[in-house]
Amino acid sequence: IITCAAQQTVVIGLAADSGCGKSTFMRRLTSVFGGAAEPPKGGNPDSNTLISDMTTVICLDDYHSLDRTGRKEKGVTALDPRANDFDLMYEQVKALKSGIAVEKPFIITSLDFLTHLSLFSLQDSRHRRFDERVRDLLDFSIYLDISNEVKFAWKIQRDMAERGHSLESIKASIEARKPDFDAFIDPQKQYADAVIEVLPTQLIPDDNEGKVLRVRLIMKEGVKYFSPVYLFDEGSTISWIPCGRKLTCSYPGIKFNYAPDSYFDHEVSVVEMDGQFDRLDELIYVESHLSNLSTKFYGEVTQQMLKHADFPGSNNGTGLFQTIVGLKIRDLYEQLIANKATAPAEAAKA
Ligand code: ADP
Repeated sequence: IITCAAQQTVVIGLAADSGCGKSTFMRRLTSVFGGAAEPPKGGNPDSNTLISDMTTVICLDDYHSLDRTGRKEKGVTALDPRANDFDLMYEQVKALKSGIAVEKPFIITSLDFLTHLSLFSLQDSRHRRFDERVRDLLDFSIYLDISNEVKFAWKIQRDMAERGHSLESIKASIEARKPDFDAFIDPQKQYADAVIEVLPTQLIPDDNEGKVLRVRLIMKEGVKYFSPVYLFDEGSTISWIPCGRKLTCSYPGIKFNYAPDSYFDHEVSVVEMDGQFDRLDELIYVESHLSNLSTKFYGEVTQQMLKHADFPGSNNGTGLFQTIVGLKIRDLYEQLIANKATAPAEAAKA
């Protein structure tokens, strides 16, 4: 059961393929909101878990209308809209936004439960797709866009190195998911207010290791309560290699870019970081050159990054931009709430 105070619910959408950092992002976000960055013991980081007093994670997994057998009979995957109850999700998110408590469906048989648990990392994220009505209820949305090369490298790292899967089985599982990913998940990125795009580095010629990353934070212009972060001079085109006296960089170094651009016909601002940090505490030097960060005090980005230095991606743009987006969402939340609080008074005046 999710309860919430009337008029206080802000709904944020997050979409990405499986194993692309959604849970990690949620942990960073919850931490910015002052909650525990870890779910309660035995709790599932994605689903059905109240992570703090402030934030609740609703996972599309909870709205499957077809179970494994049902999907098999109909010949659809869990990613398919036909396997998910978007009507119920829409009704429930709408209710939450108007301050009405809801009871989330979470019906799994004990047998299914085991499978569900063991397959969780594969299953949970394949269908983080919002239909149009649900999308309209979102106050802000984020898409984590991991390029195929990098996705592959991460999967190898996790499934081969840590779980002993074979290269063939990893390739096969990525291939098997691709058609539905392309049809139902990937198209969601055009609607996102912020996209974090993760690509192979350009600092090392022909790199395909996927260790050093080029990460782009794509921020839509004109979104209410969200003003894009910029480097040095708003609206300019800037290329910056900060390595030198203030920042330690080993090979291949670090390079930032900032420029206005367009993304699916939207005007956007893009801040890009290629490379990785040697020393996380020196991030303060980079932070001091970024503007519109929505921090509450000098060095808050660096402090958050140091606090979760053990999370994946903390030494590169994935962690940096996830943290920054978290701060922007806190800011958006505070503005939305403040605005809702004053709106009735204004209306009464008029
Ligand atoms: P999801 O919730 O989307 O399935 P997670 O946040 O649980 O993704 O991350 C899954 C795995 O992907 C991590 O254990 C790690 O191996 C890899 N991963 C995620 N984010 C990063 C990152 N920024 N850098 C490197 N590896 C990452």
